[in-house]
Amino acid sequence: MNLACLLERHARMQPLRAAIFEGWTLHATYGQWARRSAALAQRLQQAGLVPGDRVVLFMRNHPRYLELMWACWWAGLVIVPVNAKLHAREVEWIITNAQARWAFVTTDVASQPLHGLDRQVDVESAEADGLLHAQDTDALPPPLPRGPDDVAWLFYTSGTTGRPKGVMLTHRNLQTMGLCYFVDVDPVAADDAIVYGAPMSHGAGIYAIPHLMAGARHVVPASGGVDPAELFALGRTLGPLSTFAAPTIVKRLVDYAEEVGLGPQDAGLSFKTIVYGGAPMYRADIERALNVMGPRFVQIYGQGETPMVGTSLSRAHLADTAHPRYRDRIASVGVAQTPVQVRVADAAGHDLPTGSVGEVLVRGDSVMAGYWRDPEATAAALRDGWLFTGDVGCLDNDGFLTLKDRSKDLIISGGSNIYPREVEEVLLTAPGVAEVAVVGASDPEWGEVVVAFVVAQAGVELDIQSLDQHCLELIARFKRPKHYRLVDSLPKNNYGKVLKTALREQLQQTDAG
Ligand code: AMP
Repeated sequence: MNLACLLERHARMQPLRAAIFEGWTLHATYGQWARRSAALAQRLQQAGLVPGDRVVLFMRNHPRYLELMWACWWAGLVIVPVNAKLHAREVEWIITNAQARWAFVTTDVASQPLHGLDRQVDVESAEADGLLHAQDTDALPPPLPRGPDDVAWLFYTSGTTGRPKGVMLTHRNLQTMGLCYFVDVDPVAADDAIVYGAPMSHGAGIYAIPHLMAGARHVVPASGGVDPAELFALGRTLGPLSTFAAPTIVKRLVDYAEEVGLGPQDAGLSFKTIVYGGAPMYRADIERALNVMGPRFVQIYGQGETPMVGTSLSRAHLADTAHPRYRDRIASVGVAQTPVQVRVADAAGHDLPTGSVGEVLVRGDSVMAGYWRDPEATAAALRDGWLFTGDVGCLDNDGFLTLKDRSKDLIISGGSNIYPREVEEVLLTAPGVAEVAVVGASDPEWGEVVVAFVVAQAGVELDIQSLDQHCLELIARFKRPKHYRLVDSLPKNNYGKVLKTALREQLQQTDAG
């Protein structure tokens, strides 16, 4: 079971079919993609790389990302996808920890040589052209054999609570993720196309797997990132497109559609399916997205340790407005995906009754093999086959999971638990509010108090008293923020997650000041 066999299959079956686009330009057919990947695989082996060796990809989204992924797998190598926004020192830490030998980079992301490598290749150089060069008439050697438990993707966590950890994802994990996309997220046909707006080093990149399974087209925007105007335009000619988007990206697409006056039908010409996840999607935001862009959304909840596979909230659930629990459902992350079991447990791993809040546990074939060279962290996260996600939530009678927060984001004020998400959901329904992040700040009297960072919609001046009044009307007094910070924007990482650690640090610094 080598993921490279998926590409080999399509290259033999339909070599002339369009596979990869850079913007509107055809970059490779299935035959070319496979031959280039196989050629590079051979050159990597000739250079002395052996199955199991690690290769870093530190680049912006680029059509060659896909060729490199499949080249590494073709040669039995392990890919280390690195967040393009990391500092060179952080990348070098990962290179050392992963004992990576080669890196492929784009120079906008890696402007300097990185230490600790045998070789660093600029994917836009003549050197890369040579490494990937193949003739359409070349024979296609089969991929090296790999077992289901061999590691394919060594994904480093964002490390917001200490050093990043290398999550070992196997060929089985990723194949499981790919197959259940068809059942739990969206069926894919050969005529479909996926567009890579969000960073390919994260979930967006591995969604190439289900789209390759279907022999669909893969579109990398020429800008290498998220430009709503470009994505809508690409969709009108190459689409309708499917894509993965963090909630912040969804917001940008919806803002754009509204700004230029596009309705659900127009959105349907550009987008088939927008899969969102990776961070909380608030009820007010998904309602607006559905209104503006129509029923083309599906939510997934997962984490690096069980990538893209945990729960999903289907298009049908999001459309079922007549359901008596619709409002709860759209604020949930949906039901367990097919290959996994999901339960909510106490700290010892004992099941909690339905409706009780506890840690979310996941078990199934998508769950990682463990953390790279870190048996202690592995033993803490994987117990009796269950992944302890560190997320806190509760299940209802119908199996829908509602996430509260990461356990480390919970605020304990005067002995009461406050889940920031609940306060955020409420503040987002206040007029003029665009974005909110709620964190705890230490307080001598209460232990912690609730602080809300609020971003106003363009042209709106927010008034703290009205925000407070809004909270008083909708949530218990003790949950409402004691302090408000009106800010222009929220700090976010490259994957669109709000950096609550940075907000807490900001509060500590102002306290100290
Ligand atoms: P990562 O490992 O970087 O993919 O981050 C995974 C974390 O993002 C999860 O453990 C959750 O805390 C959060 N997350 C992922 N999907 C969702 C979602 N649909 N709703 C809310 N939070 C999410």
